[in-house]
Amino acid sequence: MNPSTRIAPEHTPWLRFWGVRGSIPTPGPSTIRYGGNTSCLELRIHSQIVVIDAGSGISSLGRELLREFGANPISLILLNTHTHWDHIQGFPFFIPAYMKQNRIRVIGRDPKPDSLESIFKKQMDGEHFFPVPLEAMQSELHFEHLNPEGQAEIDIGSVQFSTCPTNHPGGCLGYRFRTTKGDVVLLSDHETEGDDEARILEFIKGANTLVADTQYTPSEFVSRRGWGHGCSSGVISLALKADVKNLYMMHHDPTHDDDFIDAMLSDARKMVPSSSSMKVFAATEREKIFI
Ligand SMILES: [Zn+2]
Ligand SMILES: [Zn+2]
Repeated sequence: MNPSTRIAPEHTPWLRFWGVRGSIPTPGPSTIRYGGNTSCLELRIHSQIVVIDAGSGISSLGRELLREFGANPISLILLNTHTHWDHIQGFPFFIPAYMKQNRIRVIGRDPKPDSLESIFKKQMDGEHFFPVPLEAMQSELHFEHLNPEGQAEIDIGSVQFSTCPTNHPGGCLGYRFRTTKGDVVLLSDHETEGDDEARILEFIKGANTLVADTQYTPSEFVSRRGWGHGCSSGVISLALKADVKNLYMMHHDPTHDDDFIDAMLSDARKMVPSSSSMKVFAATEREKIFI
């Protein structure tokens, strides 16, 4: 059964995709089913809002939050995997950040020698990139760094998670969240078949839901090694070894239209042996999954 079709009891943790595309927003008739916005996920655990990445999808999430909360304050944690453009470019368009009553904690790896705050500021530098500076955001905005090494357990209010560095140029963090219904792991961006596969396998082991970067087909992957993204077959075999229950393929390549992603999904499902109960899906913009 597709977990998104379950009837959710109250307090069931859920995950919603607001942007599933890698690299660059890709709107248009050929990407309308899976969606064209870059990385943004919303996770609700015990009514705590956790947003992961601020790709262009965060703009629609902002409007949806305003519909939900009206004039009431919104308090959220924005976790950043890394500061590549497709993971931060939507932040200047995140309306709740401009509103005084809201509180936003932006948390991510330390992009030394810069800081998360300085990078977010830079992309809103009025002279070159955006007309409105970060300082115009009236919300209570805090930037915090996580230790990029190891897999420390982190507790933020009612949300517990651990992190793991992934194989990606410039560095990137995977996140694993504990929920009452099992763990949710985001592994994006990550190039498969690197030297760190044993560590990644350990990190995703037994996850209820794994959302992973599967940007390339096996044949594309051959000429794109070193670009920092996953190969669909590599991710499938890793997820099978790790006994993952539900795998969501994400960070869709901008050159892959809906039909192409359908075909990748169908190939991926064929790789799952009948002895495994792992379900494979292609992440779809605005889809909501009850964990
Ligand atoms: Zn990316
Ligand atoms: Zn990246």
